[in-house]
Amino acid sequence: MRRESDRAYFPEGMPLPRRDANSRRFWEACNEHRLLVQRCARCGVHRAPPKPVCGRCGSFEHDWSESCGRGRLFSYTIAHHSPHPVAAERLPYNIAVIELEDCGGALLLSNVVGCPNSALRVDLPVELIWEDRRDGQSLYRFRPVEGSTGSRASRQGGMT
Ligand code: ZN
Repeated sequence: MRRESDRAYFPEGMPLPRRDANSRRFWEACNEHRLLVQRCARCGVHRAPPKPVCGRCGSFEHDWSESCGRGRLFSYTIAHHSPHPVAAERLPYNIAVIELEDCGGALLLSNVVGCPNSALRVDLPVELIWEDRRDGQSLYRFRPVEGSTGSRASRQGGMT
C-alpha cells in the first residue's frame, strides 16, 4: 500500500464523511491507514459500508477484517454533473465500485486515481492508496496496479 498525500482527488472543501455508531471504527482505522471491513460474527459474510445488522442472517454481532487493499474495478461511472460546488470543480470524475479480493466480495465505493478516466475498464486490477486530507480524515482511494493500464495511461496519470 502506498501513501499519496501530496494531492487530493477532490479540491479542499469536500464534506467530511459522516461518522455514526456503526462507522466510527471504520473511519478511525482509515486514519491509521488500515482498511477494515465488517464481518458478521455469526455467518461470516462481509459487508460494506458498516451496518448494524447482517443482511444474510440478521445477527447484530460483528467483527472486522483488515483488507490487504487489492481488488478489481467491479463497476464505475463518470460524473459529468455534480450538485456539490466543490465536486463540480473536479468534473469529470470517476465513481468506482471496488471488489476487494480478500473480503468475500465486499464492494466499496471509491475513486480510481493515478490514471485518466479513459483508462478505466471493468476488472482493472487496483490497489489501495491513502489520501491524507488536511482536515485530518484519511480517505481510501484506489489506483491501477502498475502496468495494468498500459504506457499511455501511466504517462497521462494525473496523481503521480
Ligand atoms: Zn450473518
